[in-house]
Amino acid sequence: MEDIKGNLSVVYQRMDRAAQQCGKTGEDVLLVAVSKTRTPEEINVAIDAGVTDIGENKVQEIMDKYEAVKPVKWHMIGHLQTNKVKYIIDKVALIHSVDSLKLAKEINKRAGAHGITMDILVQINPADEESKFGVSLGETKQLIGDILEQCENVRIRGLMSVAPIAEDPRDVKVYFDKVKEQYDEFSRIDHPNLDFQYLSMGMSHDFEVAIEAGSNLVRVGSAIFGERDYSKAQIGG
Ligand SMILES: *Cc1c(COP(=O)(O)O)cnc(C)c1O
Repeated sequence: MEDIKGNLSVVYQRMDRAAQQCGKTGEDVLLVAVSKTRTPEEINVAIDAGVTDIGENKVQEIMDKYEAVKPVKWHMIGHLQTNKVKYIIDKVALIHSVDSLKLAKEINKRAGAHGITMDILVQINPADEESKFGVSLGETKQLIGDILEQCENVRIRGLMSVAPIAEDPRDVKVYFDKVKEQYDEFSRIDHPNLDFQYLSMGMSHDFEVAIEAGSNLVRVGSAIFGERDYSKAQIGG
């Protein structure tokens, strides 16, 4: 097995160093350990080593692992189909991937049925990449306005973004900067269902650049658990 504990301490150090570049400490940044394709045993090693939050990008993987994983906060970070919201509404602390009013309304309906308010992030696709989910920067304001108007059981806690892949992540910092700009703008809105706290940006290969751009939540998988091998994955894929 990978040295998950050792990898984690390296990740915490890297987070700390990046945070210090902008006058913060690593403790100002939440680490969500991304456990897709990983077994409950591997996830529990990470939890024993201090991980408080884990992220999955597939509903099925959350369902399969939920019972076997120690108490932890679950984050849904991947594309979410409306017909699957019902399976995770009572399991996850935060849904990062809301990019349509249709999805927000379904979350609203299911949250209402459970008597809860669901925390969500709005996912932005800052480079308008075909291959990625999320609303464009220009559509964000409209979507947030519509959600606030029509989804009383949903609370918008911030924004999430995946930057384009680049050999040198510094080359795409501009996209993180653009999302941060929007984040600051919406943070000033005064509404009972809007309480910005999370700017979810940064993965294994670019989280330092994201933190320097103002991210306070990083989603890190392979730097903790090792490279993913989808062919050997026991669950999902
Ligand atoms: C897989 C995934 C991550 C983590 O990716 P790594 O490169 O393994 O750190 C982060 N965010 C999302 C949305 C993902 O699907």
